[in-house]
Amino acid sequence: MNQTDRIHELYRRISQAAQDWPPTTLSHYEGQPFKALIAAMLSAQTREEQTLAAMNNLLALADTPEAMLQLSDEQILQAVSPVSFFQNKARYVREICHQLVTQYGGSVPRALDELVQFKGVGWKVAVLTLAVGYGIHDDITVDVHVARIGRRLGLVQPQTKQPEKVNEELKRILPRGYWPHWNGLMVQFGREVCKPTYPQCATCLVRDLCPRVGVVQTGPRSYKEGDYL
Ligand code: SF4
Repeated sequence: MNQTDRIHELYRRISQAAQDWPPTTLSHYEGQPFKALIAAMLSAQTREEQTLAAMNNLLALADTPEAMLQLSDEQILQAVSPVSFFQNKARYVREICHQLVTQYGGSVPRALDELVQFKGVGWKVAVLTLAVGYGIHDDITVDVHVARIGRRLGLVQPQTKQPEKVNEELKRILPRGYWPHWNGLMVQFGREVCKPTYPQCATCLVRDLCPRVGVVQTGPRSYKEGDYL
């Protein structure tokens, strides 16, 4: 099977299986740029259920930048306490809301170079915000799942770590139509099957299509992330 056919088949099987897997946290905020921005910022280095808990707390108090600015520091801190680095992120919530209200009339800008000017918003968060909030998919959102699984599947060079570079390598080989869904699919696939430390290779639905780059077999049916990287 050539590379193009392999990619189509990977996509087909994973998308089909994903219909039975729980949706990603960010998918709750599709078409809602403000919520997507705050959720994407809170999600950095945080488990999905913690991001969702913090978002639910916060949105129960306020769901617009103007209303969020009316909350006290303590209220925001308490609301986002489930996420990692919550003290910094609580500050970012206020600073982002302030910037949105004072510079953008309360709307989230649609340009990557403007979004990365916000506190707590790097390239990954900005790409995710545009994708989820506005359906803009000029780039592929790269998180730990996208990078790790890309390497294991042989779609990304083993030594490539920077999200921007992973994005470039994936964009060169994935059809444009796959870009919007790639992050969500890899998050779901990474949660259910191609897990960070112990990938479920023995029963994996794409086992016959995967070179398992960087994965070592530790028993007849057990596999583990290697330490070559
Ligand atoms: S075979 Fe293993 S490494 Fe490859 S995609 Fe499946 S779980 Fe991941």
